[in-house]
Amino acid sequence: MKEKKSEYEKVLQAFALAKSFIKQQIELGFDEVYAQMKTKTNQRPPTSLDEFYHQIKNCKRCHLGYSRTNFVFGSGNHQAKLLLIGEAPGREEDLKGEPFVGAAGKLLDRMLAAIKFKREEVYIANILKCRPPENRDPRPDEIETCKPYLLQQIKLIQPKIILALGRISAQVLLQTKNSLGQLRGKIHDFNGIKFLVTYHPAALLRYQQYKKFAWEDLKFLRKEYEKIVDS
Ligand code: SF4
Repeated sequence: MKEKKSEYEKVLQAFALAKSFIKQQIELGFDEVYAQMKTKTNQRPPTSLDEFYHQIKNCKRCHLGYSRTNFVFGSGNHQAKLLLIGEAPGREEDLKGEPFVGAAGKLLDRMLAAIKFKREEVYIANILKCRPPENRDPRPDEIETCKPYLLQQIKLIQPKIILALGRISAQVLLQTKNSLGQLRGKIHDFNGIKFLVTYHPAALLRYQQYKKFAWEDLKFLRKEYEKIVDS
């Protein structure tokens, strides 16, 4: 019995080591992340977003793949300088297979228009590609499984600036537990890309009092964007 237990402990220890190795590889950067995906999917690195979409559109690497209606890859300009990253598809997005198409999507369009962007100019993606049931927050295991896809999208798009929409996408990508209030109003670095944070449009629909702060964030984003375009 004692022998069996020690074998079991060895397996657990090996599993913990493997997990921490993979995490470290993710933190190292895009190429390492893709190397992991390649091992898991046995596919060559994609050279375009379209190719990547076809590689992963039937993904069932986590249980959300079994409850979704549609896989929501992302949409917009494949050469966008500005990339917007939300949390996960909601009910409308799950039904249509497109990010930000419900009431929050309409507000996002108005937010973009207020700083002179059209949706077609930017690219919009989420941390998760499939809807968590009842719109609950994404779980750490779902994020860990799906995040390499987003990192690969970032590698293919090569944006100059990223705007995180909401606490979860900001915390996941910046690997921090800081609050949204602490993260917004600053320029962060994400693998050499300027990274800004603002409220998720769905939160702005519920809490109107945050709109004035979101407006500040949007003006800040436009200013930083123009610096990049002019340089
Ligand atoms: S959420 Fe991501 S990892 Fe999970 S099934 Fe969907 S695409 Fe795959």
